[in-house]
Amino acid sequence: MSDSTVDAKLELKQASKDVKESENVAEKYSAMTVSKNSELTMGELSSVLSAVPTHKPVKKQIQFVEDKQEFSKFPTKTGRRSLSRSISQSSTDSYSSAASCTDSSDDETSPRDKKQVNSRGSTDFCVKNIKQAEFGRREIEIAVQDMSALISLRKRAQGEKPLAGAKIVGCTHITAQTAVLIETLVSLGAQCRWTACNIYSTQNEVAAALSERGVPVFAWKGESEDDFWWCIDQCVNTEGWQPNMILDDGGDLTHWVYKKYPNVFKKIRGIVEESVTGVHRLYQLSKAGKLCVPAMNVNDSVTKQKFDNLYCCRESILDGLKRTTDVMFGGKQVVVCGYGEVGKGCCAALKALGSVVYITEIDPICALQGCMDGFRVVKLSEVVRHVDVIITCTGNKNVVTRDQLDRMKNGCIVCNMGHSNTEIDVASMRTPELTWERVRSQVDHVIWPDGKRVILLAEGRLLNLSCSTVPTFVLSITATTQALALIELYNAPESRYKQDVYLLPKKMDEYVASLHLATFDAHLTELSDEQAKYLGLNKNGPFKPNYYRY
Ligand code: NAD
Repeated sequence: MSDSTVDAKLELKQASKDVKESENVAEKYSAMTVSKNSELTMGELSSVLSAVPTHKPVKKQIQFVEDKQEFSKFPTKTGRRSLSRSISQSSTDSYSSAASCTDSSDDETSPRDKKQVNSRGSTDFCVKNIKQAEFGRREIEIAVQDMSALISLRKRAQGEKPLAGAKIVGCTHITAQTAVLIETLVSLGAQCRWTACNIYSTQNEVAAALSERGVPVFAWKGESEDDFWWCIDQCVNTEGWQPNMILDDGGDLTHWVYKKYPNVFKKIRGIVEESVTGVHRLYQLSKAGKLCVPAMNVNDSVTKQKFDNLYCCRESILDGLKRTTDVMFGGKQVVVCGYGEVGKGCCAALKALGSVVYITEIDPICALQGCMDGFRVVKLSEVVRHVDVIITCTGNKNVVTRDQLDRMKNGCIVCNMGHSNTEIDVASMRTPELTWERVRSQVDHVIWPDGKRVILLAEGRLLNLSCSTVPTFVLSITATTQALALIELYNAPESRYKQDVYLLPKKMDEYVASLHLATFDAHLTELSDEQAKYLGLNKNGPFKPNYYRY
């Protein structure tokens, strides 16, 4: 039997098992009541937490980019600019924000060389400038306005303090939205130390605001790679404080602890990981039998994947394109490579603006979806000569090759919305016959010997994270999922989770969604007893089996 046949059989077996499991879960939840607007009370949340059965980890088959990371080297003591190792892709993709754009601090002194004290007399942090705290506080307050679901979780749970005793070390983008998450965790009883998962994305003023309120933050915008590891180390390696939970985005923190402080894992109750890359690393560790604590894969929660990938990209693709190019997209011919979640979001936004959209796909199901949605499915080579814009969203590599770049018309805009910066073969354009002209931040004109120009955005890195803002509301959904995953792992009895990678229980995914419904004054229909019986569901959910695709 071929490997793929074995895999397919195993997957089928797993799928039918998942169905049975979710039916058991539904029975366990039967005692719970949900209020009219379908939000659970905190008591009900506790029931959700305690009713989650000991279940097998859901092994999802995920497609990943080639990601050979090396974790064996540590920062050099000499020379902060020296590259101690390659950091993950996610650590160089960046969220830009209005606030960061206005950060005009021209102080070149490295934060590592500054002595800073917050108003409480603490020096346990390292940020660009603690004096920016007030400005950062305003940014956090603005973010709070669009994160009402997370705030409502904070209000409901702060009496119970479900994270009392939790010592969370976090490595995420440090933005106003993450600050709302961190301060929610603190309200729920946790102590936190935080560092950035990305060397460019830190909002300095937000890092200052958090440090001013007593959360030790080690991060600033424009860290060197050596600084990046130093900051992670400062979070983990501190006297009298040892983390018992990890919240990671990209897996760098987790691997730092694995390689440098393996003993810390004796106290760790769980890891919550947000990114595709980090989750991939966790599955690799698990496969190698090296994962020594339970881990929660937040990336594949429905509320993360559907909203972050589809809606976030639908909201931000045009922002990224317009800020960088000033081009009118109505009537323009655009190719979107990959019609998965991200591709669907991009196509919907461009279609709404009046662009003529083509898609490319390798998967007949997604290709057929594209046809039904009114898009022409083509091979890139068929249209590459005449289209105005090419956007990659596949998670694959070399989707746009040098040969195709050679055939593009003058002025063609090329950009990427997928995780890896290898979707467009940017490296192949770094040859002597092509001239690179940086025309503005994140925009390069690559000029062919005959004068043809291809407009490359963000050097092939994620366009929206590099060149636009990301909607706070979507980040609230992800942040609420992360908070619940931490609460779940921290409070779960030891027998519930083994040393493996788990998805957040569907009931909690539904809870995250229900918390966000209030923003829209959305009113859920409740199942009657008769209907619930007819469908074989518990009236309070979960409403779909684990294999349901939404
Ligand atoms: P997905 O798996 O749903 O979609 C990718 C699609 O690309 C699939 O349908 C696949 O069949 C297709 N594909 C693969 N290789 C192809 C090729 N050579 N030519 C044409 N099509 C091809 O994944 P997704 O959720 O849409 O995510 C896509 C990428 O975007 C991932 O790398 C993901 O990490 C990233 N992502 C970006 C953002 C963002 O904000 N920019 C948000 C979430 C995810």
